[in-house]
Amino acid sequence: MHFDHHAGLGELGTLGRSIPVHAAADNGRTGDPAIGAESIASAIRQRYGHAREFSIREHAALEPFDTCGFRVTLIPVRHGDLACFGVRVEDTETNSAVAISGDTDYAIDERSREVFGDLDLFVAEASVPARVSESVPSGRQPTLEFDGEHYDEAGGPRSVARGHMTREGALALAADIGARRTRLVHASHFYPVAEASCEPLATDGERHVL
Ligand SMILES: [Zn+2]
Ligand SMILES: [Zn+2]
Repeated sequence: MHFDHHAGLGELGTLGRSIPVHAAADNGRTGDPAIGAESIASAIRQRYGHAREFSIREHAALEPFDTCGFRVTLIPVRHGDLACFGVRVEDTETNSAVAISGDTDYAIDERSREVFGDLDLFVAEASVPARVSESVPSGRQPTLEFDGEHYDEAGGPRSVARGHMTREGALALAADIGARRTRLVHASHFYPVAEASCEPLATDGERHVL
């Protein structure tokens, strides 16, 4: 995860009690190029280290750790040149598991797919519909390029924009890893209006009992 996903963390530093912050250690990719951070953990430390309430705990990718009664694993995903991780959270008493994909394209490696596997609930990013190049008139968003990658048999891109999934790509990844329930998040405003509030896009405030 990078800045747009943790920008609100600083607000918690005013609660006046100790808050552990678990973050990924170096994995050879930049954690936040804007501040020259070499891992997610160092990015958190540089951006929020002034808040004494935070105790930052570093974790290696794919090495589970226990917190708040859950077993948690940070899973490397693919988001251009940036370090980015999905997260798997398991209740070891009930054997239920949920995972969040993080920002990623479809082509995460086999080891990460294995660790995502056997999920009761998969919360996956689905930035745009695969037809986004048709629905976004050219020139309307000149700074974003929706170049497709990882095409499916029907010719639709599963990935776009160097590190995001299409709705179709997210559903394909969910099927690949055998997720029993999937909710799609991280939707952009490039969904056509008629599809923007439709299944399987999640809505705010959803609750799921596992
Ligand atoms: Zn991102
Ligand atoms: Zn994002």
